[in-house]
Formats: sequence, structure tokens, C-alpha cells
Amino acid sequence: MERIDGAPWVGTSWKMTKTLAEGREFARGLAEALAAEPRLRERVRPFVIPPHTALAAVAAELEGSGVVVGAQNAHWEDAGAWTGEVSVPQVADAGAALVEIGHSERREHFGETVETTAAKVAATLRHGLTPLLCVGEPAEVRDAGGSAEHILAQVRGALDGLSEEELGRVLVAYEPIWAIGEHGRPATVPELEAPFAALQGEFGSRTAAILYGGSVHQDNAAELLAMDDVDGLFVGRAAWRLEGYLELLRLAAG
Ligand code: PEP
Repeated sequence: MERIDGAPWVGTSWKMTKTLAEGREFARGLAEALAAEPRLRERVRPFVIPPHTALAAVAAELEGSGVVVGAQNAHWEDAGAWTGEVSVPQVADAGAALVEIGHSERREHFGETVETTAAKVAATLRHGLTPLLCVGEPAEVRDAGGSAEHILAQVRGALDGLSEEELGRVLVAYEPIWAIGEHGRPATVPELEAPFAALQGEFGSRTAAILYGGSVHQDNAAELLAMDDVDGLFVGRAAWRLEGYLELLRLAAG
């Protein structure tokens, strides 16, 4: 089965939700659905990012399904005295092929900075995994007209010094902070045009893809995916139920 060139990425991070049993059930159902609907695998690049506790189990269920499994975070060092952290080799050992880096919740609550995102991107690439670098601006920056500069600075800082080959393995997700989560409001297509044009202008041809995330749901996914500059969707709540995620995959498959 060949995946068509330019197929959109459509993935979900479960954040701090789902037990092991719930994660397994979702993953098993997803693998079965993709086996039954091969056109989804041909036309979409699905990825699922469980909590660390479910990573190995979910990766085992999804083996051979065409779904990329990712970790929500990983440390920049390979091993050592970093209580509570897990490294890129450890998440790879558990089955992750992708590492999410720099989500706004980690920047806000866990001290993630441009420097730590750069170190994590480098570690992820060094071990042959795909970094998914998340960037986004708060509402005050948007209101002051500074969205593009803010996110470009985050991307430049995190990707500084990478070779073109390394850059070509990086996924970027633009996730305006004001659009994320239950207090967020979905961004409109006109609001996304300038930030995406800026990201695509500087990094589009050099990185693997630039995705949109933030209150994506089944009613706005098609118009977001129809934007020329949007290479895929990164989804939270609307994809936490398997049926919701499958609906998004079907929308993306067209
Ligand atoms: C997110 O937190 O990255 C996200 C996209 O969440 P939601 O879709 O729930 O807004």
C-alpha cells in the first residue's frame, strides 16, 4: 500500500487522559478501522501521542498499522540523574517514533524555553525520531499584531544550527495559545493566513510539514485542511474518542 504524496498529517495527543486499558482499546479499534478502510492509510498520515504510561502498549497495538506513535515529551540527555524524566532512547525503546516538543502547556507550567526546545529537538533528531515542535502566541501578542514574529522566533530558536537534512525531518505545529483547550476559541481561516504564510515562507520548503492545532473539531477540520499552507492537523479533545478521530481521518482523506 502506497501513501499518496503530500497526504496530510492528522494526529492527536491524549495529554493526561486515558488509562492503559482505555489507550489499548482506542489503539486496537484504530488499527482495526485502518485495516478495514485502507484508503485512510493511503490518504492520511495518522499519529497518536499517548501518555508515557500507555506508550508501549499503544505502540504494540498499532504496529504495522501505519500510525506513527509519539511521546508527549522527552529529556535532552540520554540517561542520568533526572528523576521523573524520560529520555529519547527510552521513549524510542517503548515504541515512539515521534516526540512532541514545546507544547504551550509545557512552556507555561513546566518551564520549557526556546533553549530546552532546541536541546530536545537535537536529541530527538540524534536518535532518529521525528520532532513535532509546537509553537504559538498568547492573545495579547496576537492583539498587538505580533503573532508571526513571535512564532518565527520560537521556531528559529528551536531549530537553530540544524542542517538542511535535519530540518527536513522536523514537523512544526502552529497552535495559537488562545485557540487551545476548553477555554480556547477556534481560530478562523483569515486569522491563520498571515501566521501560516510567515511559517511557510521561512520554513515550509525546509521542514517536513507545518500543521495547525487548537480547537480543531469535526465542523472546522475540512476548511482548515483546505488552506494551502496547512499540511495537517494536530488535535486534542475532538480526537480523544475513537469515533471522533476516525471522523477527522475520513474528512482528511476526502
Ligand atoms: C492542544 O492542546 O495541542 C490541542 C490542539 O488541544 P485542543 O484540540 O483540545 O484545543
